[in-house]
Amino acid sequence: MNFDLFFENKLDQLKNEGRYRVFADLERQAGNFPKAYVHRNGEVKEITVWCSNDYLGMGQNPKVLEAMRSALDEHGAGAGGTRNISGTNHYHVLLEQELAALHGKEAALLFTSGYVSNMATLSTLAANMPNAIVFSDSDNHASMIEGIRHSRAEKRIFKHNDPEDLARLLAQAPANSTKIVAFESVYSMDGDVAPIAELCDVADKFGAMTYIDEVHAVGLYGPNGGGITDREGLSDRLTLIEGTLAKAFGVMGGYIAGSRALIDFVRSYSSGFIFTTALSPVLAAGALASVRHLRNSQEERVAHQAAARKLKTKLKAAGFPVMENDTHIVPLMVGNPTCCFYASEHLMDKYGIYVQPINYPTVPRGTERLRLTPTPYHTEADMDFLLDALDDTWNQCGIRAIA
Ligand code: PLP
Repeated sequence: MNFDLFFENKLDQLKNEGRYRVFADLERQAGNFPKAYVHRNGEVKEITVWCSNDYLGMGQNPKVLEAMRSALDEHGAGAGGTRNISGTNHYHVLLEQELAALHGKEAALLFTSGYVSNMATLSTLAANMPNAIVFSDSDNHASMIEGIRHSRAEKRIFKHNDPEDLARLLAQAPANSTKIVAFESVYSMDGDVAPIAELCDVADKFGAMTYIDEVHAVGLYGPNGGGITDREGLSDRLTLIEGTLAKAFGVMGGYIAGSRALIDFVRSYSSGFIFTTALSPVLAAGALASVRHLRNSQEERVAHQAAARKLKTKLKAAGFPVMENDTHIVPLMVGNPTCCFYASEHLMDKYGIYVQPINYPTVPRGTERLRLTPTPYHTEADMDFLLDALDDTWNQCGIRAIA
């Protein structure tokens, strides 16, 4: 077999469908976020990033940078191995205590990313608990889906954000099964929010465990930045809360928080925790500074929500098809993968605006979009410039005609 020919054909398929992924070659400018330099077509130019998940700009927060610098100087670059082999760095302990407190849980456990935390935890729980069945929201993230698949446990998919459908499926499950209900709080592509209390009511009725992914909400919602569960006073209704240190907290890493026994169980049985090198102490120190800051400061959260509201209002007033939601995510609908790709290219080339096209399988076919993520650092002038650029782009790419 000609292996390369096989790979090239598969890549051509993606290109023909207009969903071959191209990543901008960026240098973020610390202290000047959301500005960055892009390396493109042999040139370097300054651009404005409109699609970062560093939602609050914590990746350039002086406290975070200082914590990382001093951890690097004092402790060196890496963790030196898995925690199983090389021990736990003290920053891991401090960060896990902070994360447990953030969610009002007894304990927390760190992973190298949010993806790994979902994948490792769901696979460990569903593979080990007796006769486990996972009840998974139809819009759950790939990392949860992979974790469930890897466990080889049975899976039942309930309609997105639909407690009644969940109840219907739970009622059909054998009495002797362990039931795990897995969902997210803020869905990152549509920006809609789960009916958490209602889903927990249903889960409680059937004695099910509740697993929530708060990746797009931690740092951003609630008086402590503990996510939607924090905002709604629901943390104790969830058996397990999963989050990331890579988005609103601006660094890298993932975690789960729950009861001491649950966390110790995952720590002791999860391959995805045990057999991989621990997070660098530099990352852990930065994340610790970020979580501590956002537990006390409301300033970034308030400015973030205001920026999202302002951008949505401007876009709607100008007649752009913004998907309605109550969160910080601003999906601008295009509805065609090729148009979406060319719109993104045009914005970058002509206006120095970076917004990544979102195509299938990240979103269903026909709902391709530009996903804008305004931060506290995008100015009103940035927004007005974006609007003018979008207006031209919509005309140039013929998007008005298809929308
Ligand atoms: N869960 C959700 C809902 C996500 O959107 C993502 C990443 O985008 C993850 C988990 C993975 O988190 P991380 O980027 O920290 O790996």
